Amino acid sequence: MNYQKILEEIQIQIQSELPKGEVASYIPALKNVQADDFAMSIKLLDGTSYNIGCFDKKFSIQSISKVFTFAMALKLYGKDLYKRVWYEPSGNPFNSLVQLEYEKGIPRNPFINAGAIVTTDSLLSYYKNKNITFNEINHFINSLCKKEIFYNEEIFKSELESGYRNQALASLMKSFKNINNPIKDTLETYFKHCSLMMSCEELATAMLFLANHGVDPLTNKEFITAPKAKRVNALMLTCGHYDASGDFAFHVGLPGKSGVGGGIVAIVPKKMAICVYSPRLNEKGNSHTGTKALELFTTLTELSIF
Ligand code: GLN
Repeated sequence: MNYQKILEEIQIQIQSELPKGEVASYIPALKNVQADDFAMSIKLLDGTSYNIGCFDKKFSIQSISKVFTFAMALKLYGKDLYKRVWYEPSGNPFNSLVQLEYEKGIPRNPFINAGAIVTTDSLLSYYKNKNITFNEINHFINSLCKKEIFYNEEIFKSELESGYRNQALASLMKSFKNINNPIKDTLETYFKHCSLMMSCEELATAMLFLANHGVDPLTNKEFITAPKAKRVNALMLTCGHYDASGDFAFHVGLPGKSGVGGGIVAIVPKKMAICVYSPRLNEKGNSHTGTKALELFTTLTELSIF
């Protein structure tokens, strides 16, 4: 298949539409982006890349980082992790507090904020200290994308100062004894991995292990076992876009994970990983144009899993 031509076709269609949505502003530093940037990268299992737009421009990966931290926590704790975070779609916004109250502080899944704060807390318990924990997360991602990546201090601080809902989520879960470390340490680690900066090309490369049963096809290194990779993909499909996960499955039909920085990653099992970037978000906090581009991709290639 001529993937480069398909990317060009997608870009033409995307650019023929009027821009829709707004860039995230509830974390003030996230506003400092070019709202109409567009990029898309495809990485095949044999290492071939196809790119379009500003594919090497770094952006804040935000909730896409939850895929890496969930994979790490699942690797360390196995099924025990599900005592602290379930694997059901929430049907609620990513930062919602409502279910936590009557579900005794157990978040619905690791891709909503509450669930990701718990997986980060579990990593912190394992690695003991927040600097080592962040270094381990960074190292896990570095070895997947084969490049050194860094977090953005301004975005990190901005979220630290304005993350009232995440503080509320962590406090509520702590009251149910589902946060085992000081809230400050857990949230700092969580905000830091959310503020990691990566390009579309780096993210597509880093996600390739999930298209290949947990093994990086470029190095043959197993990052997680095949049954665990299956779980990560299943949760990306059912929970990766919060209360728009059904919509994403309906229109795109791939396991995917979005972030409020404007990125979306998607997996075509046994074939490739894809990343798209466009920072204007729809009302559910997912990239408007990114979703459209992925929908066009599965329509033009017939690569939806359905
Ligand atoms: N750091 C963001 C937050 O906690 C991540 C949210 C997202 O990307 N959906 O609000």
